[in-house]
Amino acid sequence: MNFEQAREYSFLVPWKTMECFSGPECWCRIIVPVEPIYYSHPENPENKHEYAIVDAGALDERTAEHIVRLHNENYENIKQSCRDAMKEIIDSMIPINEKEMVDTFEKLWQNKQSKIAKIVRKEID
Ligand SMILES: [Zn+2]
Repeated sequence: MNFEQAREYSFLVPWKTMECFSGPECWCRIIVPVEPIYYSHPENPENKHEYAIVDAGALDERTAEHIVRLHNENYENIKQSCRDAMKEIIDSMIPINEKEMVDTFEKLWQNKQSKIAKIVRKEID
């Protein structure tokens, strides 16, 4: 994954704030994906970097937490609307139990994420 791909993928996953290398006393906070995303530069593929949405020294703690909360709420809303759409389709068709529905949804969601990741990757290959 290159930098552009890491950035696109970061919009599809939840975020969190983190202290910078100066520790909890510092005024700033970093914003990163909850699960780390690694990227490398095409000319040096062995050298992996961890992607940060906002790096150290740019945002104060309160603003960083506000942005993360907005992003994560939006992420959850999109996820919930996928769930609702799935449930509607399933309800209108064959009977299916709750567990099967959850499994199907999880598969769809993971598929969607990996598909988008693949599309982003393909653009470069
Ligand atoms: Zn700092």
